[in-house]
Amino acid sequence: MKVLLTSTSFQDCDGAHKELLTKQGWEVSYLRGPLKKYEIIDEVANYDALICGDDELDREVLEKGAAGNLKFISKYGVGLDKIDLDAAKELGIPVTNCPGVNQIAVAEHVLAMIFSFFKNIHLSHEITSQGGWKRPLGNELFGKKIGIIGLGAIGKELAKRTPFLGLETYVFDVNLDFDFIREKELTALESVKEIFETCDIVSLHVPLLESTKGLISEKLLNESAKPGLVLVNTSRAGLIGEREVLVAIQRGKLGGYLTDVLSVEPMDESCLIRNKNKIIITPHIGSRTTETIQKQGTLAVTNLIEQVNQYV
Ligand code: NAD
Repeated sequence: MKVLLTSTSFQDCDGAHKELLTKQGWEVSYLRGPLKKYEIIDEVANYDALICGDDELDREVLEKGAAGNLKFISKYGVGLDKIDLDAAKELGIPVTNCPGVNQIAVAEHVLAMIFSFFKNIHLSHEITSQGGWKRPLGNELFGKKIGIIGLGAIGKELAKRTPFLGLETYVFDVNLDFDFIREKELTALESVKEIFETCDIVSLHVPLLESTKGLISEKLLNESAKPGLVLVNTSRAGLIGEREVLVAIQRGKLGGYLTDVLSVEPMDESCLIRNKNKIIITPHIGSRTTETIQKQGTLAVTNLIEQVNQYV
């Protein structure tokens, strides 16, 4: 079986996931994703399976693949928004993903970004790196209100931790787990708008779907956001427009935007929010820890083994 593997973190980290892959005896080729459509469209038909990251697998790419050898897709990760799932279904290509393995890494990343921003760690490091000793004034997290939109795997890991930091924790989800909310003594609100009106910090943990595209609208930022609200986005860039972010920061509607995801990844010169005051960008590393890579890689390979066994 010929497999194309495009995830760079899978390739760059040694461990159990690579050992499991090697044992299968598959012929594995490697490209460094996330691949744009033009980079994968002429390749895809040559492989029986993809172990992919956030490569652009739209209908045309999948049709090309299915017209050739492509039979299986194993997503290394959770978000499936770059794969046309309807097309995959019509073409009979099963798609699996890796829920339940990277939520701790991402929740910790959210906290790291919040601490960095509130205590100016990123700015202070830059100052001392250049030999300076200017001392920025920070803020405490204690007593602030955090809103978590999307109380799934990552949202829950975050909500388990924030109360211990003295953060009053508010949550919203279209499908709330009330047992979890009671057990962790969280406060559920009724809408995204209420979260924005109430909280000093808001962290997004919903998938990018047709129903969540642009969930954080210009109107919400202008009319509902508590002044100075700090927005954290480790989910997907499509939940909010980058132009809207920039304008909201410039008008003081947002006090900060801390993001791990961009509308164009890898970032290029078209990025509107690069190197701007009160905006921190990390290069989609939320789940990129040595612990997670092994768990996620092992699950991605296991999912593919199961797909193949069902096919035979
Ligand atoms: P999950 O499926 O466990 O949870 C998503 C939650 O969002 C669910 O509880 C769902 O009910 C809720 N939801 C869906 N639509 C909603 C809406 N309109 N309003 C409110 N809630 C809504 O997913 P997860 O594992 O927590 O991951 C969330 C997202 O994080 C992924 O889809 C992915 O895009 C992103 N992610 C990013 C990284 C990273 O490295 N930055 C890593 C993993 C996942």
